[in-house]
Amino acid sequence: MLKYIFCLDTSLPEDVQISSMSARGFYIITYTLSFIALGYYDNQLLEAIHDYHITYLVLYCSLLISSTILFFTAGTNCGYLRDYPTEDLVQGKEYQTGYFVNGRHVVNRDSIEAAVEEHKQESDAVFEVAKEANDSQIGVQTQGDEETEERVSEVELKSRITGIEHISPFEIPPKRYCEECKVTQPYRTKHCRDCKTCVRKYDHHCFWIGGCVGELNHRKFFAFLVIKTFSLVMSFDIAVSGYDRAVKIDELKQQFHVKAIFIFLICLTVMFFFFTAILLFYHFFLLMTNQTTWEHSKKTSISYLKVYPRTVFPFDYGIWNNLKMTLWHGNKTREWTLRHPDLLRTREGFNYFENEYYNCC
Ligand SMILES: [Zn+2]
Ligand SMILES: [Zn+2]
Repeated sequence: MLKYIFCLDTSLPEDVQISSMSARGFYIITYTLSFIALGYYDNQLLEAIHDYHITYLVLYCSLLISSTILFFTAGTNCGYLRDYPTEDLVQGKEYQTGYFVNGRHVVNRDSIEAAVEEHKQESDAVFEVAKEANDSQIGVQTQGDEETEERVSEVELKSRITGIEHISPFEIPPKRYCEECKVTQPYRTKHCRDCKTCVRKYDHHCFWIGGCVGELNHRKFFAFLVIKTFSLVMSFDIAVSGYDRAVKIDELKQQFHVKAIFIFLICLTVMFFFFTAILLFYHFFLLMTNQTTWEHSKKTSISYLKVYPRTVFPFDYGIWNNLKMTLWHGNKTREWTLRHPDLLRTREGFNYFENEYYNCC
């Protein structure tokens, strides 16, 4: 019965269900006691109810209700591999293996030389055309200084056009096999020790929402962080208003008692505000760069990521596309593929999360 009340995924191990129930119990008890205190002692929320401040009440109630619904439901359907098997597995296809040569996917080592030769021939043809155009720039350079800046040396032109020095065969890291689930994991999938199953685009296992944050519920988790942060700002404001009014109570013993309650509520809201606001800020960065907490914190040890420089994000398709992939996925999982490091842009400049001076995780 409790399992239905708490909306728990009954396929999860017993200990995950118990820890999740304790988090939910804490949530329910904290809010119930807080609202009893708010209903009993004067504060801004009580005043809004008495004076029918509809806009204020609708805003606060909608934030509170939606964040509570998300708290109870965000942990379900994260994208377990057993529920969303890979296309490759379903269709019996071979997994993506082989090498990249300047962006070309070749299946084995023997094909590398042929791919390099093909690339050279193509780029030589482009170079000839560019060289002619460049020579004509040389022809007019004596006319003035401006034209002189336009032309480039033949060596520079060759490196720009052909990019021959960039040819570097890139071995595509193999996909891992999960011994527990007896399945080959798609990239970005990790076996969760708490859920005891593989999770697609694994982010982390969250004690509070009672399940994993994965490919399909990362958006719910993010929405929860956004709404909860705003809801906590309003709750903090209400608690401060209660303290301000408690100061005016004449009877000293009563004043001390009420002040202590509101100081406790202020501390609680401040603590959870910082907790959710920092997570929100961090997850916004992850969503924009198409990374997960696991990938970001273990980049140097994850087999399919350690081949990339630290400032290169292999699943980065631009901020807009990255946000779309996480927030509007249509409840469908994706087969993530790896790209040649040369084809990916390097993020330059100082970044609080990715820099040479310290590692935040
Ligand atoms: Zn597994
Ligand atoms: Zn988990």
